[in-house]
Amino acid sequence: MAECKVCFRHCKIEEGALGFCGGRTAKDGRVSAFNYGRVTGLALDPIEKKPLARFFPGSMILSAGSFGCNLRCPFCQNYGISWSEEAKRCAETAETVSPEGLVSLALQTRSRGNIGIAFTYNEPLIGYEFVRDTAALAKERGLKTVMVTNGTAELSVLEELKPHIDAMNIDLKGFTDDYYRKTLGGDRRQVIEFISEAVRSCHVELTTLIIPGENDSEEEMRDLSDWVSKLKEPDGESVPLHISRFFPRFHMTDRGATDVGKVFRLAEIAGEKLEFVYTGNC
Ligand code: SF4
Repeated sequence: MAECKVCFRHCKIEEGALGFCGGRTAKDGRVSAFNYGRVTGLALDPIEKKPLARFFPGSMILSAGSFGCNLRCPFCQNYGISWSEEAKRCAETAETVSPEGLVSLALQTRSRGNIGIAFTYNEPLIGYEFVRDTAALAKERGLKTVMVTNGTAELSVLEELKPHIDAMNIDLKGFTDDYYRKTLGGDRRQVIEFISEAVRSCHVELTTLIIPGENDSEEEMRDLSDWVSKLKEPDGESVPLHISRFFPRFHMTDRGATDVGKVFRLAEIAGEKLEFVYTGNC
């Protein structure tokens, strides 16, 4: 039995078994990334799709994902690789790629406007060793590195990644402990700490998906944007916030899509405190 210290769950994993996220295992009494180098998705995406609005706008980025996730958002858009029954099968079907192999692919797509590698689609922090090794190599070769994450990991994990990551989009899914704990199976405190530390080392943009009846009150957006307004990037710039519209999917089909007017109203409220607010999926 070994204890994983990557996220707040601190899973105790039996030899050869998997942790809660499905991406980590125990071998010879030590926890390691079961999903190391196991790729389930690879695409050359516009950087705005991550979403990053203020990091090399107009460029493309080679985006790679693996499998597993440490949250349980019922509306997950990537449930096929994150936490469904289907996701478990990825452990058998995912292709394996080395850090050198992924960097080489990224260099080959430079002529198509690619600036680097984005670790995305599933939660990259649960396989942070692959992110660290690949991003370090990518930076040596002059590529940019991006991580799209739920920010649910201990600061010791962030410390290992910091020197190698140029930009992150981090979900700030809501601003109440209850929503994080009961609806998402997460820990807001850990995300808040992660974001507070990440903004000190690289470019960070945040994303909030607005779910009707869950995190869509004006009061919550005031609290959230007030907190974000106090964060500053290393160059002194304020942190951008993306406010996105929800569509029913996966286990959350009991309500309709977020009203577009509501998204714009919440963006207006956030704009009272923040310099850069973007709406998504509207
Ligand atoms: S990263 Fe995965 S295995 Fe580790 S504590 Fe979190 S859920 Fe458990």
